[in-house]
Amino acid sequence: MAWHNRTKIVATLGPASNSDTMVTELVQAGVDVFRINCAHMDHAGIAATVARVRRIAAKLDRAVGILADLQGPKIRVGRLHNAEPIYLKRGAEVVIDVTPDVVGHSNGGGAVVIGTGYRGLADDVRAGERILLDDGNLELKVLSVEPPRIRTRVVYGGMLHQFKGINLPGSAVSASCLSPKDLADLRCALANEVDFVALSFVRAADDVVALRKHIEKHGGDVLVIAKIERPEAVKNLASILAEADGLMVARGDMGVEMGAEAVPPVQKRIIAMANEARKPVITATQMLESMVLNPRPTRAEASDVANAIYDGTSAVMLSAETASGKHPVRSVRTMEKIIRTAERSVYAEMVDRRRRAGDRKANVTTATVRAAAFAAYEAEAKLLVVYTETGTTARMLASERPPTHIVAFTPSLRALQRMALEWGIVPRKIKPGRTSHDLTVDGDRILRREGRVKVGDRIVQIAGTVRQTGLTNSMCIREM
Ligand code: PEP
Repeated sequence: MAWHNRTKIVATLGPASNSDTMVTELVQAGVDVFRINCAHMDHAGIAATVARVRRIAAKLDRAVGILADLQGPKIRVGRLHNAEPIYLKRGAEVVIDVTPDVVGHSNGGGAVVIGTGYRGLADDVRAGERILLDDGNLELKVLSVEPPRIRTRVVYGGMLHQFKGINLPGSAVSASCLSPKDLADLRCALANEVDFVALSFVRAADDVVALRKHIEKHGGDVLVIAKIERPEAVKNLASILAEADGLMVARGDMGVEMGAEAVPPVQKRIIAMANEARKPVITATQMLESMVLNPRPTRAEASDVANAIYDGTSAVMLSAETASGKHPVRSVRTMEKIIRTAERSVYAEMVDRRRRAGDRKANVTTATVRAAAFAAYEAEAKLLVVYTETGTTARMLASERPPTHIVAFTPSLRALQRMALEWGIVPRKIKPGRTSHDLTVDGDRILRREGRVKVGDRIVQIAGTVRQTGLTNSMCIREM
C-alpha cells in the first residue's frame, strides 16, 4: 500500500460509516484516526466501534488511533416526536422547556415546544438575548424567561432536527465542563482503551486539569485534546496548551460563538502555538461540508484544506462528511488528494520557515533531531528512521516538518496508535531489541521487504545509544 500524506486525516464514525466494510475502505483511503462523537453514540456502540477499528487495523497492519470526543457543556435540542424534524417559521413562537425528558413537538397550528437536557438554560439567558440552533443556521430571540420555560420568537427559521446544538453567544454558560454524561462517557472510553480524549468547550486550563484528575482516578492512560471553540479558551490559549497534549480548532462552534470571521485568524494562531509547543493540532469542521451531499467539493473547500496544511496543521478532520454523509469514502479520497497536492507545493517553504523559527530549548535530543531533519534535506534522503519507545523522539522530529516521511519503529502498541495523529510519522511495529544493532537489522529488513528503500537509497537514522527514554544522541546517514 502506498504511504499516505504527512498531514493526518481524522474521520468521524457514524451511521454512514460504522460498519466493517466502510471502516476497512476508509482506512485504505487514508484515515489515520477515527473519532467517536460521544454525543451521538451509546456505550455499547462505543465498545463495539472500538473493537471494530482495532480488529480492522490489525488485519490491515495499520496504526490507527481512536479519539473519543466528549460533548462537554454542549447544549442540545432534546428528542423530537417520532424523531421527525420540525419546521420553525419566521415570526412564530417557540417555547424551550427545560423540564427533563420533554419531547419536542408542534401542534400543527404553529405552536412549537422543544426540550433540552440542559436545565441551567433558563438561568443563563435573559429576555432580548439570542439563542442559536443548529450551528447558528436558526436563530431565536428570547421574549421572556418563565422557568422551566423560555418563550422565544423565530428570527431565522428552517428545519430543526433533534439533538442539534444550541449556542448562547454573549451569555456565560454556567454548566461545568464535565457533565455526569461526560464522566460516564469518559469511563467507557477509558475502559475501551481509546488513544485520545477530546474535551469540548474548554474555557481554561483548569478544565483540562479536572479531566486529567478523573483520568488518573480511573487509572487511564490517554492523551487529552482540548477543543478550542469559546472566546475564553482563545484568551487562555497558552495555559490550556501547557496542560493539554494537543488542540483541536473546533471551527463549528467557534464560528457560532465568535462569528465566522474570527475563525481564520484564530485558526492560524492556534496552529502556530501548537507547532511551537510541539503538540499535535487538528483542524476540524466543515472542511468538505458540501460533500455531505455532493460527490465533489467546492473550490473554496479545497482551498480551505490546503490552507490548513500551509498553516502547519498536524491533522484535518471530517465530521458529517464521513459520519452521516452520502460519500464517506470519496470525502476521504478527496481530502487525501488535496493534502498530497498541497504538501508537494509547500514543502520547501515549510522547511525554511521551520529553520527560521529559531529560539528553541537546547538539549541533546533537540540538537540530534534538528540535525537529522537538516541532514535529510541536505543529503536528499529517501526516509528518516527513528527507533522510539514512547514516540517522543518521533514527535519531536515531526515538529521540525522535515522533508521526508518519518518511519517510527516502536515495540509499543500504545505509542504506535498515538503516533497515528502525528504529522509525517509512519508508525511501524518492531520486536523489542536487546541492542541498537538488533533493532537496525530488523528495521532494515522491514523497510526492504515493504519496498520502502532500495540499494543505494540514503536514509537518516536517529536513536539513543544509551537506554534512556527521551535521550536521543546519535544520528547517521546511511546508504542502503
Ligand atoms: C466543532 O464544533 O467544530 C466540533 C468539532 O465539535 P462538535 O462536532 O462536537 O460540535
